[in-house]
Amino acid sequence: MRLKEILEKEKFTRDDLVTLMKISDSKELDMLYKKAYEIKTEEIGRKVYYRGLIEISNICIKNCNYCGIRKGNCKAERFSMSKDEIMKGVKWIYENNYGSLALQSGERQDEEFTDFIEDIVKEIKKLSNGKLGITLSLGEQSYETYKRWFDAGAHRYLLRIESTNEELFK
Ligand code: SF4
Repeated sequence: MRLKEILEKEKFTRDDLVTLMKISDSKELDMLYKKAYEIKTEEIGRKVYYRGLIEISNICIKNCNYCGIRKGNCKAERFSMSKDEIMKGVKWIYENNYGSLALQSGERQDEEFTDFIEDIVKEIKKLSNGKLGITLSLGEQSYETYKRWFDAGAHRYLLRIESTNEELFK
């Protein structure tokens, strides 16, 4: 009964969310999934949007201890895709009617990398006649670098903040 009441609400309280996250009974889970599907269908219809992700390199200048591709992990096998390899993936994504793609890699802040990404973004624009959404996830960069990539045609930037607590982060 309590679950039914919660699911009928317009907005959930903190307690409602805690209750929903603790559900383990299969009937209650079914009710929750049904409600979620109902809302999803209302909001965006019965559609699935594909997004292509290309992991272009695992080279990184940072050394976050929890991360497998951190600079200090000498056991990680490093790779960097060439422009041709990336564009082959982009072509496939475009020809298969994906709406957007994301380029992801470890963090590099050198000029060569900035130029490389700028060039790739321009190529993606050209290849897709500006139709593919372009997301970049390439770590922390300077304002100038973000601006160059934006001006080249990137639409979104995905930057994860692991913690805003300095002590915890250290
Ligand atoms: S910056 Fe990102 S990719 Fe690099 S070590 Fe940290 S978490 Fe890993």
